[in-house]
Amino acid sequence: AAVPPAGAPTAAVARPYQDPSLPVPERVDDLLSRMTTDDKLGQMTQVEKDALVPQSDLAAHRIGSVLSGGDSTVSPNNPRTWADTYDSLQRTALTTPLGIPMIYGIDAVHGHNAVRGATLFPHNIGLGATRDPALVQRVGRAVAEEVAGTGIDWSFAPCLCVARNDRWGRTYESFGEKPELPTSMATFVTGMQGTALGGDGASVLATAKHYLGDGGTTGGVDQGNTELSEAELRAVHLPPFQEAVRRGVGSVMLSYSSWNGVRSHAHKYLVTDVLKSELGFGGFVVSDWAAVDQLDGQSGFTGAEITTAVNAGVDMVMVPHDYRKFLTLLRGEVNAGRISQARVDDANRRILTKKFQLGLFERPLTDRSYTSSVGSAEHRALARQAVRASQVLLKNDGGVLPLAKNAKLFVAGKSADDIGNQSGGWTLGWQGRSGPVTEGTTVLQGIRAAAGDPSRIRYDRYGNGIDGSYTAAVAVVGETPYAEMHGDRPGSMGLDPEDLQTLARLKASGVPVVVVLVSGRPLDIAAQLPDWKALLAAWLPGTEGAGVSDVLFGDHAPTGKLPMTWMRSASQQPINDGDGKSPLFPYGHGLTYGTGPDPDPDPEPAPKACTAQFKVASSWSGGYQAEITVKNTGTGPLTGWSAAWDLGGSTVTSLWNGSLTVAQGRATVRNAAHNGALSPGATTSFGFTANGGAGTPAPQCTGS
Ligand code: BGC
Repeated sequence: AAVPPAGAPTAAVARPYQDPSLPVPERVDDLLSRMTTDDKLGQMTQVEKDALVPQSDLAAHRIGSVLSGGDSTVSPNNPRTWADTYDSLQRTALTTPLGIPMIYGIDAVHGHNAVRGATLFPHNIGLGATRDPALVQRVGRAVAEEVAGTGIDWSFAPCLCVARNDRWGRTYESFGEKPELPTSMATFVTGMQGTALGGDGASVLATAKHYLGDGGTTGGVDQGNTELSEAELRAVHLPPFQEAVRRGVGSVMLSYSSWNGVRSHAHKYLVTDVLKSELGFGGFVVSDWAAVDQLDGQSGFTGAEITTAVNAGVDMVMVPHDYRKFLTLLRGEVNAGRISQARVDDANRRILTKKFQLGLFERPLTDRSYTSSVGSAEHRALARQAVRASQVLLKNDGGVLPLAKNAKLFVAGKSADDIGNQSGGWTLGWQGRSGPVTEGTTVLQGIRAAAGDPSRIRYDRYGNGIDGSYTAAVAVVGETPYAEMHGDRPGSMGLDPEDLQTLARLKASGVPVVVVLVSGRPLDIAAQLPDWKALLAAWLPGTEGAGVSDVLFGDHAPTGKLPMTWMRSASQQPINDGDGKSPLFPYGHGLTYGTGPDPDPDPEPAPKACTAQFKVASSWSGGYQAEITVKNTGTGPLTGWSAAWDLGGSTVTSLWNGSLTVAQGRATVRNAAHNGALSPGATTSFGFTANGGAGTPAPQCTGS
């Protein structure tokens, strides 16, 4: 017999589903057997908090989930008020006959970014530059604690998109352009959920999004069409989701985008056959915001759209507004038999399993012991560490960096003293905005705090008043906040007129210019680069601007590596590693202090015309994902080359960017991706997914 949790009414354990000592599948079965169809349809419905009027509708319509969208606010906006709001909603949900708790979701995509005073971490592009999955796991842990401190159970993160075209306005939500980088950063899932959902410590349900191919749309158009063969789609966009599933991610959000003309939300093959059956995803699939009601190209639900999405495999529909109409239509489709009871039960089983695993039935209200972690000194220190690690030094002529602590500095640029610009989109609002939107340290404040004598630091946003007496000018320029739909850059990808003017003033003074670029992606800066002595890519660092000054002054040498290939001009988009285009800075580039311009010089002329390196990017039981990098080490163009390695008994299941032949445990790759010569010093990479052994990491390369 179960021991009732302290304070639980005795009647509570009379029903098996309320007995925490029983295995979750048994509890789910018992609960399902007691639920009416209306109870079940409500579980499949997620409503935006502000649309839930009156709040009693939550119980009246048996609604299973509430969310706060990017623009949702709680007023006054502080952690305690969020927790009070959460608890009030939860108490309403618990008044239904079966007392099924609601689950509350929010976009905590770079910290608990809807809450003023929360710690904001670098957006994913910066985390990708750290190449440090363990650090990213700790970031996930910290975010989970802050989210839990406001009662919220579920975050729509991480975005595991593989951004292949920097024109896309969500590029900064991507850890990187090559599949292995987002795959390695799926550690975020483990950080957020804990090793077991509802286990020790804060445990917040994570979401792998947006499934599938959101970062691969033609032209980098948000919500566009990803035109790829199935082999390419699987090779480039699937691996991070595979890894998230392996790590037990609780939910997957579908992408607004289409694959070869079919919307993800209507794609039964991708959602049910690939994700749920083939990958064995046991969590639930949530739609994106109003994505189901847009399936027919118009807003507003129709029964047909609901049937298409639910039968494709959507378990929970993010409604978000017109829930009464949605529920009426959903009920109609079920009554007419167009959506089967079995499908409804499967969706409920998936959702309820996660609610039980999270411990929501036992602990439905906010655990206030985490509330003080929101914006805590410990989390800010971790964020500062992540900011440092995300800085990528792209140029450092004459060793102008690191700056001396006693240097006389002129600081300028629209992002030098602006927390909003540093934080980017998804910050106290969907699109984010410039200005003091939340608490934190700007880059300028970080510089002032680090400098030996703050009076030697002069600041003017526009660069007015600079003269030749300064050691260096630090220009903090780049992009102002944006998010999805508004952030695409189909035209110019250069600096804006204000930045160009500021930079021109600094240049005219003759003082060496150090540029700190605050941006959500690489920008088209080749024309200005010769004017700058140093260039530091700071990405969107979040609230801890001191992490940038730590690197500028050399308290920490830069270690970040480019997560994206850096274009020479916008006309090269899309540009990605291994595609044969000539970038301004290659993927993986990143200098540090004290080693000159090339941190990785080839020490001696290689005897062979090429080398090949084998790297396992990630592995799981029974399979692995690997990458071969071939480099031309000769002095002339390399043609007709091939690289071979032992597969160690494994079978290749997918491959990207190359052609591969496999014969008796040996695989050979040829230069198909290049369609021609590999120039001296150039590298090209090929990746594949394999089942079986781990191969032999000693590939041979021959060429002429
Ligand atoms: C975005 C998602 C987000 C959702 C909820 C959508 O517009 O595409 O990434 O999770 O809104 O705010």
